[in-house]
Amino acid sequence: MSRLIVVSNRVPVPDKRGTAPAGGLAVALQSALEARGGLWLGWSGQSSAEEAIGPLKMLKDGNIDYALTDLTERDVEEYYQGFANRVLWPICHYRLDLAEYGRREMTGYFRVNRFFASRLLPLIEEDDLIWIHDYHLIPLASELRRHGVRNRIGFFLHIPWPSPDVFLAMPVHDEILTSLTAYDVLGFQTAHDRENFADCLARQGLGERQDEEHFSMGDRTFIARHYPIGIETDEFATLAQRAAETTLHKRMLQSLDGKRLIIGVDRLDYSKGITQRIDAFETFLTRHPDSQRQVTLLQITPKSRSEVPEYEAMQRAVAEQAGRVNGALGTVDWVPIRYVNRSLRRPALAGLYRMAKLALVTPLRDGMNLVAKEFVAAQSEEDPGVLLLSRFAGAAQELKDAILVNPYDVEGTADAMARALALPVEERRDRWRSMMKALRANDVFTWCDRFLRDLSTGEPKAGALARPRMAAVGGRTPISGA
Ligand code: UDP
Repeated sequence: MSRLIVVSNRVPVPDKRGTAPAGGLAVALQSALEARGGLWLGWSGQSSAEEAIGPLKMLKDGNIDYALTDLTERDVEEYYQGFANRVLWPICHYRLDLAEYGRREMTGYFRVNRFFASRLLPLIEEDDLIWIHDYHLIPLASELRRHGVRNRIGFFLHIPWPSPDVFLAMPVHDEILTSLTAYDVLGFQTAHDRENFADCLARQGLGERQDEEHFSMGDRTFIARHYPIGIETDEFATLAQRAAETTLHKRMLQSLDGKRLIIGVDRLDYSKGITQRIDAFETFLTRHPDSQRQVTLLQITPKSRSEVPEYEAMQRAVAEQAGRVNGALGTVDWVPIRYVNRSLRRPALAGLYRMAKLALVTPLRDGMNLVAKEFVAAQSEEDPGVLLLSRFAGAAQELKDAILVNPYDVEGTADAMARALALPVEERRDRWRSMMKALRANDVFTWCDRFLRDLSTGEPKAGALARPRMAAVGGRTPISGA
C-alpha cells in the first residue's frame, strides 16, 4: 500500500498523552494514515516574522509523522484571513455581497500555496498518495506539478461549490478553476456541488466532460465525484448514551425544570442562518403563546474568525438579538434563549443533543453540516428528538426524513417548529430509523475509504480502516482552521 500524505490548513496534532483533540474527520484520516504509514502537513497556527520562520516542526505518533510550519503575519493576513476567509468562503456560500476581493490578498494566497509546496516537495516519495483538503489549498497541486510531481493527488472540498453565476463573479476564477484540473480526484460534498463545478468548467470552455464523473484537460484526465462526509455514527451514539451519567447532564435536566429543550449548535458564522433562526423562534413563540414557558432554546455558538470584521460585527448582532427576544418575551423565571458563546467538548454536546426534543440546523448554505448528523446519531431509539434541517445544507441530501425548511422563510420555519414539536412518537421513530440507516451506511470511515480507493485506483478495500478507540472522539476537528 502506498504511503499517504495529507495536507490541510490546520493539523490535529496529538497531545502529550497521544490523544488527538479529534472529531470524526481527524479520526478517520488518522486511522488511514496509521494503516498506510503517513505524513500530515499543515500550518502550526503560529505566525512569526519572516526571518524567524524556521524549518518544519516534526512530530511522530505511531506510524504518523506530523509536519508543521509557521507562517508570517503577512501570510496569515493575506492568505488565511484575506483571500481564503474573505473571498473564497463568502463566494462558496453564495455571499457575493460579503466578498472583499483585493489583489494583495489574492497574491498572498498563491504565494502561501507556493510556500506549502516548497515545504512538502522534499518530503514526497515516488509512490506517495497526496490528499489535500479544503479551500485554503486549491492551487497546491498545480504548484507541485510545476515542480515535476507526478504522484496521484486528490482534493476534497469541505464547503459548497457555488453555481457559475456566483463563482465567475470572483476575479481570478480562471486561475482557481484551472488549478483544480491539476488533481487526479476532485471530491465534493454533494452531486449538486459537483454539477456546479462541471457547469463552471463548461462555461469557461475548460476541459472536456467524458461522462458524468470523468473529465479531461489536455493530456490529463481527472475524476470529479461526490463523497458526502459522514461522522463516526456508532461511536457518537455511544458517547451520547454515556453522557446521561454525567454531572453536566444532570444539572442541565434540573435547570430545565420540565421544559422541552430545543438546541442549536453552530460556529458564529453568517452562513449558519443564526439571526433568521432566532427570528423564526420568536415568531413561533409569539404565534403559539401556549408554548411560552414550555420550551427553551439553547443556542451554543462558539466564536470563530473574530479577526475578520464580518464575524466581529455578527458577534454583537446575535448577542443583541438574543437579548432583545429574552427581554421582550422572558419572565422572571423563564429565559426563552440561553445563548452560550463558547465551545463545548463533543461528549458534552452529545449529551445535550440527546436531551433535546428538537434541533434547529438552519444554515443559509452549508457544505454538509455535521451537527445535523451528530444530533440524529445521539438520539434514543424509544423517544428520538426531531431534526429541523435547512434544505441548503449538504446533509439534506441524505437526511431526507428530517423536517426540511427554507431558512430564508422565517414564518415557514416557525410553523415547522410547531409541527416538529407536535409529531407523534411513532412518526419520530420512523423518521429517526430511516436517517440512522443513512448515517450507518455512510459513516466517516466509508467516506475516507471511498475517496482513497479512487485516489489509489483500487486499494484499499472497503472497511479496511481501523475503527477508533472511544477516547479519540473527544474534541473539535480543527483541520480547516475554522
Ligand atoms: N463542535 C464542538 N463544540 C462546539 C460546537 C461545535 O465540538 O461547541 C463541533 C461539532 O460537534 C461538529 C463541528 O464542531 O463536529 C461543526 O461541524 P459542522 O460541519 O456542523 O460545521 P462547521 O463548523 O465545520 O462549519
